[in-house]
Amino acid sequence: MSEPFVEVRDLRKYFPAGRRQVLKAVDGIDFTIRRGETLGLVGESGCGKTTAGRTVIRLYEPTSGRITIGGTDIAGLKRSALKAFRRRMQMIFQDPYASLNPRMTVSDIIGEALDIHGLAASRAERARRVGELLELVSLGAEHASRYPHEFSGGQRQRIGIVRALAVEPEFIVCDEPISALDVSIQAQIVNLLIDLQRKMGLTYLFIAHDLAMVKYVSDRIAVMYLGRIVELARSEDLYGDPQHPYTRALLSAIPIPDPDAEARKERILLQGELPNPVHPPSGCPFRTRCPLAMERCAREAPAFREVRPGHWAACHLHD
Ligand code: SF4
Repeated sequence: MSEPFVEVRDLRKYFPAGRRQVLKAVDGIDFTIRRGETLGLVGESGCGKTTAGRTVIRLYEPTSGRITIGGTDIAGLKRSALKAFRRRMQMIFQDPYASLNPRMTVSDIIGEALDIHGLAASRAERARRVGELLELVSLGAEHASRYPHEFSGGQRQRIGIVRALAVEPEFIVCDEPISALDVSIQAQIVNLLIDLQRKMGLTYLFIAHDLAMVKYVSDRIAVMYLGRIVELARSEDLYGDPQHPYTRALLSAIPIPDPDAEARKERILLQGELPNPVHPPSGCPFRTRCPLAMERCAREAPAFREVRPGHWAACHLHD
């Protein structure tokens, strides 16, 4: 197995939450991603997955922890070195409309990314590169002079992807890139991202709020709950043999196309809401909603351990 390209160790991101309280949005997570691999990061809204993605590429400053990308210690980079390194790590956002400046043409949006990193020596070079990039996502160079509002949601996300690709990154955090799109075009965008990954050797952290969305795109999947990763495994192992009660509940909520199989399926209903992360439960963070919780779960946080080769889970049932 090749060396990890992205390595995250005991990463924490805390935010002040008033009256000397702290919101532990990311509370000690570990994962690696190999070059050319996609790691899916899944969890309910408020579990800390977006904060984790932003902290890994230092759009947020980590509270503590170690982040290494391509052998470079990201957490330790000074401002100017970080600015230069930004070219190698990019983000694709959930809402392409909100992330594109409505007053700029597509040419200017993409050209700006090229200019920041000095990737076009002349206006002609810039225009040629913008055209090439638009072709890469099947938009056609003739779209360069148009504004974001003139495009459909799927086309706008293609522009968001182009903007990220313009600086020739190696690692991209895809933050729910298809959640805001019509179901009919979600598969097109996912297929485009997979295609670009193969052509350009990209490494992805792919964030999503449900397991159905990441199944197709991810080599391995990490499931997050209240700021921690509770299970991490190869996709086929996570779907075929989930080891954490939370993962089982998430999987049981995915509809199966075969009506007989759907009728036979055991549905595990999650009790209650995600607890307030400012006041997380003692012991195991999932215990207030876990159908298998024991007395010990309130006292002791379970360790994140390797329960099978390459399959990690944090649950006392595996002690
Ligand atoms: Fe449920 Fe206890 Fe396992 Fe947490 S440690 S997931 S509460 S059984």
